[in-house]
Amino acid sequence: MNRSIEFLVVGGGLIGLLTAKLLHQSGVDVALVEKGEIGRESSWAGGGIISPLYPWRYPDAVTQLALWGQRRYPKLCDQLASETGIDPEWTQSGLLMPNLSEKEIKVALEWAERYGYPMAQLNSEQIGDIEPHLSHFSSALWMESVAQIRNPRLVQSLKRSLELSGVPLIEGFEVDRIVESNGRVSGVEAGGVLVSAQHVIVCGGAWSGEILKRAGVELSISPVKGQMLLLKSEPDLLKRITLLEGHYLIPRRDGRVLIGSTLEHDGFNKETTDNAKEELLAAMEELAPELNRFEVEMQWSGLRPGSSNQGIPFIGSCGPDGLFINSGHFRNGVVLGYASAQLLVDMALGHEPIINPAPYLAD
Ligand SMILES: Cc1cc2nc3c(=O)[nH]c(=O)nc-3n(C[C@H](O)[C@H](O)[C@H](O)COP(=O)(O)OP(=O)(O)OC[C@H]3O[C@@H](n4cnc5c(N)ncnc54)[C@H](O)[C@@H]3O)c2cc1C
Repeated sequence: MNRSIEFLVVGGGLIGLLTAKLLHQSGVDVALVEKGEIGRESSWAGGGIISPLYPWRYPDAVTQLALWGQRRYPKLCDQLASETGIDPEWTQSGLLMPNLSEKEIKVALEWAERYGYPMAQLNSEQIGDIEPHLSHFSSALWMESVAQIRNPRLVQSLKRSLELSGVPLIEGFEVDRIVESNGRVSGVEAGGVLVSAQHVIVCGGAWSGEILKRAGVELSISPVKGQMLLLKSEPDLLKRITLLEGHYLIPRRDGRVLIGSTLEHDGFNKETTDNAKEELLAAMEELAPELNRFEVEMQWSGLRPGSSNQGIPFIGSCGPDGLFINSGHFRNGVVLGYASAQLLVDMALGHEPIINPAPYLAD
């Protein structure tokens, strides 16, 4: 690419793709580079729940981003499906959370009231009505408006949409240096090949900290491995997302059920393990032992971009002029990603921001 691009996005996960799409929609010149294949890292590996797990446990800055995206994802998914033919399968499954303590239920209900979020406390009979194939639980919290997305489809549809719009997407381009001149970003380099750009936005997921380090910027973003299992179950056997002690089941429309997920600090190692498989199958057994009869079709892992910031991502400028970061979404990159991309674009283009940017600033 010989010309100097106005905005260059580094990283083709969900965050980079959404950022590039919203920049393009704002009429600016944008391109994206990706070290491997687009959408094959954390954004492919995730579960696609459009809510933080136990959302009341997060700071308001996380809730603000989540609420903005939750309201707008259905329309985005419809538009992507009709534009690209790839349906991200936005589905309102609801989120059922059995066996919480009275104290936690109280905090959760207060949180829900504050944000006007539908939330109800169910007894065992009501749980059985909502999800008949679940184990017996005496009580649960129920968030009926929570939805899910098939994240591999979401990233594929975003990629296709950008291609149709003519946005350059360069795969196999691993940025090893952010180039600066006179205190301003002027592009990126990979293996001696330079791409000139007036602004660079780092959306490198778990690798963002490493990329920024090379520009002299220290931000604590590091990988947190999550392993998942996929069961080949039957359509409509389970209908709800259920969450128990950090583990969850997500039923897809075609009957497949995701069992998630582990939380492991193992650097950039993505190996899957028998221990994780046992942990996840034990969680499934506790939630819905009937699933035992179905085979495990796949096991995989992904590296979440963890930050030390209570799950609040870094969004905004950092380091030399023209350098931006949109990363560190940890367990919530799908639910927070849409708002996070819009906020970054607002800040980069000097538009009125959708929400107060202060809690997310990296500087
Ligand atoms: C098991 C699991 C379950 C999850 N479940 C959910 C969920 O239910 N709901 C939810 O909201 N979130 C969930 N998440 C979290 C969510 O998936 C992530 O927060 C989100 O995908 C992060 O997106 P990203 O674009 O920042 O990162 P990624 O998808 O990892 O993308 C970053 C991209 O940058 C590229 N890159 C890195 N370095 C360079 C470089 N030097 N040059 C060029 N490109 C580079 C990478 O190759 C990668 O493609 C889950 C994650 C995991 C692992």
